[in-house]
Amino acid sequence: MTGITPQPGILDIELYVSGQSSIAGREDALKLSSNENPFGPSPKAVEALRRSAHELHRYPSTDHGALRAAIGEVHGLDPDRIVCGVGSDEIIHFLCQGYAGPGDEVVYTEHGFSMYRISALAAGATPVVAPERERAVDVDALLAACTARTKLVFIANPANPTGTMIGGDALARLADGVPEGAILVLDGAYAEFADGYDGGAALAEGRENVVMLRTFSKLYGLGGMRVGWGYGPRAIVDVLTRIRGPFNLSGPALAAAEAAVRDRAFVAKCLAENARMRAWLAEALAARGVPSDPSSANFVLARFADAKEAEACDAWLKEAGIIVRRVGGYGLPHCLRITVGDESACRRVAHAIGQFREARG
Ligand SMILES: *Cc1c(COP(=O)(O)O)cnc(C)c1O
Repeated sequence: MTGITPQPGILDIELYVSGQSSIAGREDALKLSSNENPFGPSPKAVEALRRSAHELHRYPSTDHGALRAAIGEVHGLDPDRIVCGVGSDEIIHFLCQGYAGPGDEVVYTEHGFSMYRISALAAGATPVVAPERERAVDVDALLAACTARTKLVFIANPANPTGTMIGGDALARLADGVPEGAILVLDGAYAEFADGYDGGAALAEGRENVVMLRTFSKLYGLGGMRVGWGYGPRAIVDVLTRIRGPFNLSGPALAAAEAAVRDRAFVAKCLAENARMRAWLAEALAARGVPSDPSSANFVLARFADAKEAEACDAWLKEAGIIVRRVGGYGLPHCLRITVGDESACRRVAHAIGQFREARG
């Protein structure tokens, strides 16, 4: 007995389960489990990364000025209201650390992203789960779950793992309705894939209580570099900036992200391909008796009759060398989340699921 104990809540954290990344004994495994860009990062980002190798002995920028300026230019945002983190996961962490502690509540939804709970518990706060309606965020249920103790309300829009999203009116109603003293966080990890959606930028621009989160891990194909950012009211960004480590982002990560966000031609190509193959995949699955909700992201949530069928299909796909994401941990045991790959990947997974369905009659 050492008498050494962690802070309350820490041992309630279940370790994050990431998408499986390999199948033993298979070199040709197709990974469709982590919503990665099938085209990888922009070649310009890779080139910037290569160049940054000459500066590895230098400490990186502490203010992320060049990256914030690039993001500001591309998105038409004020760079002084941007904070960059080691993935948007780190910004989620900063928000909880900065604004929620013992006795405070952090609200998110039934099928919400698991980092909200992890970061809330790490801060000593109490996670509160609001129900969804048919796998979509329900604004009324979210607002009903709020109390005077609510400090943060997290939703991803489009959401992961459902792929569904709520519209501008619903978002505004949510921002209007959260209690005084609470921050609404709009996690836009998949915002770019939703045609015409600004990720919540206008709301974050115009309100004192809204923060938008974005990432380089999905559309930009830089999950391995760990870069994300937040945009919000100056007062909140100031708090997050005080909390973050002065050198939280490495020089190579900053260089790669800046080049990536400036390469709009590459982005346009990736978005067009995603939209085309997302529609194709959803239709191909439906034709094989596997429905999904309309997805606004870079994955499709395939729905099966029950958890048993989803499990059997997952096993079948593994046999075929295809890795998808089981989402029982998100309260969706009868579903499999399938990242929209390139055309050959989509054809391969649709074909395998068709064979699975035929084999079961
Ligand atoms: C992937 C993802 C993130 C971002 O993760 P980082 O790699 O840490 O930027 C954030 N929110 C959701 C809902 C995600 O799916």
